Amino acid sequence: MQSTFIINQNPDWLLKIHTSNVQIREMEKGKLPIRIICTGRVYRNETISARSHCFIHQAEGLYIDENASFADLKQRLYFFAQEMYGKDIKPRFRPSYFPFTELNVEMDITCFICGVKVYRMCQQTGWVEVLGCGKVHPKVLENCSIDSNKYTSFAFGMGIERPAMLLNGVNDIRLFSENDFRFLKQFAAMT
Ligand SMILES: [Zn+2]
Repeated sequence: MQSTFIINQNPDWLLKIHTSNVQIREMEKGKLPIRIICTGRVYRNETISARSHCFIHQAEGLYIDENASFADLKQRLYFFAQEMYGKDIKPRFRPSYFPFTELNVEMDITCFICGVKVYRMCQQTGWVEVLGCGKVHPKVLENCSIDSNKYTSFAFGMGIERPAMLLNGVNDIRLFSENDFRFLKQFAAMT
């Protein structure tokens, strides 16, 4: 779905656009249930602006078990959002499209920065998109020899720059990769 960067020497090689390629390695092991979180840097050929960059860092979760339902997914993400952003936030789920899931959804949370200061993140809509999620398409499970009649599954993925920006009041994603010590030093106490 995203444009990425092809490596010149070998046109079959490209920089990964998401961390979902880790999922298949785990599924191919054939050990169920599966509960994993994977992280990594991902690349997208996008115009660089305050809100998007040509590379971000992604965290992704995959859960496969006999009764993994969409309700489970929603409840877990709601719990995550409250732990991450505070008890007062409200989630909103919007239909979306990803090729490898069905019931594709993007989750927004209520913006907790509006009114506090001028901020570009929600563009005054009151909602901030924080992640994409869905039930893994049965075809994906079948291709990994997992019985999709017995097992169901959900997955979610998010860029970690977004929460870092929201929680630290950073209004320009480019600051993370400019190696300006004045900017980076504020995070020293958090490591
Ligand atoms: Zn806002």
